[in-house]
Amino acid sequence: MKPGTFGLTGVRVVDPSNPTSEPTSIVIEHGRILSVGDAVPDGALTYDLGGRFVAPGLVTVHTHFSIVFPFSDTDENEPPALTAFRSASRAREALEAGVTTVRCVHEQHAIDVTLREADRRGWFVAPRILAGGRALSAPGGHGQGSGSVYCSGPSEFEAAARGELENGADHVKIFITGGLAHAGERPEDPEMTEAEMRAVVRAAQEHGTYVVAHAGHHDAIRRAIDAGVRSFEHAYVVDEPTAELLAQQGLYVSPTLAVTRSQDWMAAHGFEDHSRENARQASVDHLASAQRLVAAGVALTNGTDIPPGDSTDGTTAVVREAELLAEAGLTARQALAASTTTPAKMCGIDDDTGRVVAGLSADLLVLDADPSVDISALRNIRAGVSQGRVVRDDLDLLTTHNGGHP
Ligand SMILES: [Zn+2]
Repeated sequence: MKPGTFGLTGVRVVDPSNPTSEPTSIVIEHGRILSVGDAVPDGALTYDLGGRFVAPGLVTVHTHFSIVFPFSDTDENEPPALTAFRSASRAREALEAGVTTVRCVHEQHAIDVTLREADRRGWFVAPRILAGGRALSAPGGHGQGSGSVYCSGPSEFEAAARGELENGADHVKIFITGGLAHAGERPEDPEMTEAEMRAVVRAAQEHGTYVVAHAGHHDAIRRAIDAGVRSFEHAYVVDEPTAELLAQQGLYVSPTLAVTRSQDWMAAHGFEDHSRENARQASVDHLASAQRLVAAGVALTNGTDIPPGDSTDGTTAVVREAELLAEAGLTARQALAASTTTPAKMCGIDDDTGRVVAGLSADLLVLDADPSVDISALRNIRAGVSQGRVVRDDLDLLTTHNGGHP
């Protein structure tokens, strides 16, 4: 037996594409799943989960660890070290919420690149981070402050995209329309030309990656599809033909329904009345657009925009978003796929995470009920394992008799 090996028995394995298994065993070695269904080797630490459900760790793809709420409290002169502490605390909360992979899409001081490196060096424990660094924005556009690079014209956008990628970004974030956050902006207002989008896509492709767009309205989304953008965020207003086009082309959308449906969270974080009213008004079209995306069969991905571990509606934002996707029409199994396998595929890491199968990273949630039957089962996470590390263990299920974790 090699060091770092442990076994879980009495496990019902939940898979977004297959029926949940009968009780079986999982063996974990050096942070990866060595086997599912084989006996645990003699002498390995073994934990009996008593028939509980083990689902893949959650993958959520619209995260800002560094963002300040309400936005008006942002201090543009904040030292990057302080940004890092705030962000690290949110990363830890995300892990406790069951998130084992995040895609960051606009971070002050490109702090996601720093956090990813700190985790690699073992200085703290974070979910797997796919970093976007700073986002590219037109001057006066949706992107503001130290998380943005301002660009005008295709050559500036292309150079900025290269800059972020060379600084360690895994993908490139752009804003192709306005949003809901700032006074005077509207999701239907375009903020980039098609030539600018093409320039960013060219830079991303040269680095073997893709572009993710903040996209409020279908007119801009159609131009971005032509330009080669692969991943779309928010989709506040999307008509049926655009939904069908997105589906036909195999593109991805994170509806981020939590943005317009988290009134209690907004109140708790000091958002002004007009911002809350804005969200309330936008929520009707937003849900209708998500329903069109569901009906067209677009590949949807869980993205929260608000920190994934923050509380809303009696649970965490990441779990609430999975529930909202189900309320928009996905089955529980599809909502689970939107929070695991689909975003893993979009990010090109489905050979590493998103399912509980041999060979993948040991990113696991222990649950009392089956989320592929009722997605709200994710509200009761009993334990979490991220890359083989026990990051949560409410019932001491994964604790040895002398009190340590494997
Ligand atoms: Zn966002």
